[in-house]
Amino acid sequence: MSILRFKAIERVGNRTPIKVNVPSSKVSDYFNVNVFNDAAMKNFLDKEAYEAVVKAIKHGEKIDRKVANQVASGMKNWAMSKDVTHYTHWFQPLTGSTAEKHDAFFEPTDDGRSIEKFAGSALVQQEPDASSFPNGGLRNTFEARGYTAWDPSSPAFIMENANGKTLCIPTIFVSYTGEALDYKAPLLKALHAVENAVVDVCSSYFDKGVNKAFASLGIEQEYFLVDEAFYNARPDLMLTGRTLLGHAPEKGQQLEDHYFGTVPPRVYDFMVDFEVECYKLGIPLKTRHNEVAPGQFECAPNFEEVNLAIDHNQLLMDVMEKVANRHGLKVLLHEKPFAGVNGSGKHNNWSLITNTGVNLLAPGKTPHNNLQFLTFFINVIKAVHSHADLMRASIASASNDHRLGANEAPPAIMSVFIGTQLTHVLEELVSNKAKTALKASKTSIDIQKIPEILLDNTDRNRTSPFAFTGNKFEFRAVGSSANCANAMIVLNTIMAEQLKQFKTEVDALIKKGKKKEDAILDVLKGYYKSSKHILFEGNGYGDEWVKEAQKRGLNNVKTTPEALNAYITPQSKKLFSSNHIFDERELEARYEIMQENYVKKIDIEAKVLTQLATSHVVPAAIDYQTKLANSIASLKSAGVNKAAYGTQLEMVQEIATHIKTINDNVKKLMVETDKAHHIADTHKRAVVFCHKVKPYFDIIRAASDSLEFMVEDDLWKLPKYRELLFVK
Ligand code: ADP
Ligand code: MG
Repeated sequence: MSILRFKAIERVGNRTPIKVNVPSSKVSDYFNVNVFNDAAMKNFLDKEAYEAVVKAIKHGEKIDRKVANQVASGMKNWAMSKDVTHYTHWFQPLTGSTAEKHDAFFEPTDDGRSIEKFAGSALVQQEPDASSFPNGGLRNTFEARGYTAWDPSSPAFIMENANGKTLCIPTIFVSYTGEALDYKAPLLKALHAVENAVVDVCSSYFDKGVNKAFASLGIEQEYFLVDEAFYNARPDLMLTGRTLLGHAPEKGQQLEDHYFGTVPPRVYDFMVDFEVECYKLGIPLKTRHNEVAPGQFECAPNFEEVNLAIDHNQLLMDVMEKVANRHGLKVLLHEKPFAGVNGSGKHNNWSLITNTGVNLLAPGKTPHNNLQFLTFFINVIKAVHSHADLMRASIASASNDHRLGANEAPPAIMSVFIGTQLTHVLEELVSNKAKTALKASKTSIDIQKIPEILLDNTDRNRTSPFAFTGNKFEFRAVGSSANCANAMIVLNTIMAEQLKQFKTEVDALIKKGKKKEDAILDVLKGYYKSSKHILFEGNGYGDEWVKEAQKRGLNNVKTTPEALNAYITPQSKKLFSSNHIFDERELEARYEIMQENYVKKIDIEAKVLTQLATSHVVPAAIDYQTKLANSIASLKSAGVNKAAYGTQLEMVQEIATHIKTINDNVKKLMVETDKAHHIADTHKRAVVFCHKVKPYFDIIRAASDSLEFMVEDDLWKLPKYRELLFVK
């Protein structure tokens, strides 16, 4: 039997454990060894260069050419002391993955010898030929130069491969005329905007000592693992990241026996291995466990400053995939690799922290601190309320569409969960009771109970797309394969905008003679009242919520082409341009790229599905049909009566019906795809792919899955769900 599926089953059965090389039982012995961090800089840079870099990191100051040369030289010496031969600018184009173009340190000299060289100019800026990266029409191909520029706020690191090491320098990627072509450039701008707004509010109203702040982010990463042999026998997994076909397994997640269960030994080895690689790169992984679906797992690092957390998450995904190969495993980062079981998300735990060490979303111990907490807390709610559609757009992708609203995933409706206790506090705040307390004395604002109340951390809601979890908000609707920058650009920008508005309103009241505390409370109360209908404490997965949300006027945009429209509304254009994140052209270009990306993803799925149905499913069905027909023929010729082969006849007929369904709909799908490709407008094309092309996937899948259920197991070519999910 040459069927790949059975060879795969055999291979999986023959796998032997892989020895993992753990440098030391103490992670602190090797944490950050491959990072040009503060300690390495002190070692390899002279005082002037070191101080220049620190200033660049802390205050965004420019590094001049001469110093850049010194930094580059120090960086090269450090890298070469670790056997690095090449360097690359490491950037995040809008393809979704990271990009590298390696250059050797080695440089031939005139006398026929060579030296190792790394100039400051090569560190600070490179000009990769960028014509093949998505640009949404921002650059004409005759003017295809883009350039990458060093981001000193994220340290350089060494990427180790089996046969060589490369120095990676995190960079932004912009067009020659300065428009952002990546995730990092606008992210840094959004972080800058939110920092300014936070510092302004804090230093004006709460603490003059606040002169810096940062947004923090801890990214929980969910993923599936399948054996490489099965993966290679599933063209859909290989090419689209998800299974386009597959009958539901007899056992799924109904027993709930996988969540937090014992990690299977082979998976454990893999986890240890990729954690070691991550620690060397300074990725502070803390947590690992099984997730809800069979074959699903999660890891989470300690939180870091947003820019670094995102670089680390991008790097983490890369490292996981590389390390998995050593273990004969494939990591599935797709949001919904398997129908009928949970999908994967990437919870974004986010907060705002000051240079004085205060987490602004952690309730304080004194009324004064609590007023500060309430200020930021309520402003987040207001920001999300005002820009819910943009938040929804920030997580939109072809792959996340399958997850939002599906099994154990947040719905496509944006809402905020804060827990019953905080709801109570806010209700009290706006009630007269709080008002009297406030009038009685300046310091007796009746919100002192928050700290005790919050110690109860069990007030959790797993179904909310955006939930307060004690000292941070958790944006849960972000997809597992996403670059979190999209979500973080939006969240930090709307927060910056919101805080600016807040400051203006409070200042106006103070100018009119209101006491500072009263002014703040007045504005906050107004915000709470006007945005409280975005708060939802119930079951976000239930149908009642869909109805209730509709009553409240909250949007429920289920598909990407429509969700993305929120990026280019007049309000969004104003929001992004006034905060200097994107100008209109950049926004339009980005929108275009995202719509285009949607089309490409669906188009590839359509091609893979039609190919699989035609060359894998239908032939297997015909084989089985032939077998049945032969049996009928021999029974007939043996002279038995029709009752003896009647059922077989029915089965032959049923198979024929499914084959016809597949054939007819494959043809229709191809016609619709072809028509869709002729639509010039990208958004309209995406809409047609979504609503005219994609619906055929379900029809074809249903027929194929019915055949998988009927056809003799020996004849079925594609690894089945039970094998993909359970064989380890
Ligand atoms: P859970 O959500 O299960 O309670 P944790 O409390 O451990 O889990 O937090 C999950 C993630 O949230 C971790 O990555 C953690 O570092 C991060 N986190 C904790 N505090 C903050 C914070 N102030 N800002 C951002 N992320 C945070
Ligand atoms: Mg969590």
